[in-house]
Amino acid sequence: MWRNVETAPADSILGLTEAFKNDTNPEKVNLGVGVYKDEGGKTPVLQCVKAAEKILLEKEETKSYLPITGDPLYASEVQKLLFGEDSEVVSTGRAVTAHAPGGTGALRVGAELLKKFNPDAKVWISSPTWANHKGVFSAAGFELAEYSYYDAATKSLDFDGMVESLNKVPAGDIVLLHTCCHNPSGVDLNEAQWKNIAEIGKERGWIPFLDFAYQGFGESVESDRCGVVAFAATGVDFFVASSFSKNFGLYNERTGAITVVAPNAEDGAVAMSHLKTSVRVIYSNPPAHGGLVVATILADAELKKQWLQELSGMCDRIKEMRSALVDGLASRGVEGDFSYITSQRGMFSFSGLSDDVVKWLRDNRSIYVVGGGRINLAGLTRANIDYVCDSIAEALKG
Ligand code: PMP
Repeated sequence: MWRNVETAPADSILGLTEAFKNDTNPEKVNLGVGVYKDEGGKTPVLQCVKAAEKILLEKEETKSYLPITGDPLYASEVQKLLFGEDSEVVSTGRAVTAHAPGGTGALRVGAELLKKFNPDAKVWISSPTWANHKGVFSAAGFELAEYSYYDAATKSLDFDGMVESLNKVPAGDIVLLHTCCHNPSGVDLNEAQWKNIAEIGKERGWIPFLDFAYQGFGESVESDRCGVVAFAATGVDFFVASSFSKNFGLYNERTGAITVVAPNAEDGAVAMSHLKTSVRVIYSNPPAHGGLVVATILADAELKKQWLQELSGMCDRIKEMRSALVDGLASRGVEGDFSYITSQRGMFSFSGLSDDVVKWLRDNRSIYVVGGGRINLAGLTRANIDYVCDSIAEALKG
């Protein structure tokens, strides 16, 4: 069967991790894959997760299937986290949520649902975007188009360009938006800009699909949700894909959620019925562990407090590394203004390093950066920051 089939290309980001693992240089640094690392270079299990797992281990009485849409407590806690405890979206029941295997699973389930009822729609993605967005929505059968987002010249948001493109999106098409910590650029909208975009969506009649993979990695869980709140205020139909891989460190537990927000609870119930049929034929019902961990933490005041502290600890460490990188390059006399690195948010930054420099760093210093210059700031530590700054300075001078 496979004799005449060409080998598929390796995933560009995960392939980099493979190459990093095989590199024997003891000074190697991985600034590629989007995984948080602590000061010791490890991806830790959060203490609140350990505590919740202990509770679950004692309480668990069965490994029987979860409902198709997952544990109901998980769904209600996810909604409170997404919209805020007092949100009318939560109290009116116009949003429905299903536990999905990771943010990727949530995107795919949402895409399947949209394809069912909107088969001719195009999906508009930001230029640039996370590479897998293209894969997920193409696999669901959608044609893709791009809207303006990042201005490489100013290394900031091209808001005018974004408004101009989104004003031209036809009604019924789908617009995929990064709610915070844009991957790969680290460039986000502010609250006023989100309100503006939400109004455009309402006026034009396109369907917003919000990808929320980093809640709490920008500023805080509250301020990072301002895009979600802006769309909720318009009363239109929209979708949210949540991922708890990063903010709970639950990468391998595949913990995410797809939330469909409808104008009223009756429509929401119809959406839920179709969400169930979509899930049933893809993976039947979700894996339990990660969702139960998240629900246990969010439903317990003490554990939730501990989680928020650990989350802001991760967020603060990344901010510290952003400043250390900017200061480190300046103190080495590297020409150019790198201050944009400190205004970008989340785990990533478009470093502005060319593909030639990226290659030089990998070949000569075992520093791994994704092509296009996206850096995962969480790969930097106090122990490797000087090595990285020295190497970048040398590469840029060379
Ligand atoms: N969306 C974006 C923008 C992401 O960066 C990621 C993770 N890299 C995901 C979705 C998928 O998250 P998960 O690992 O939970 O599938």
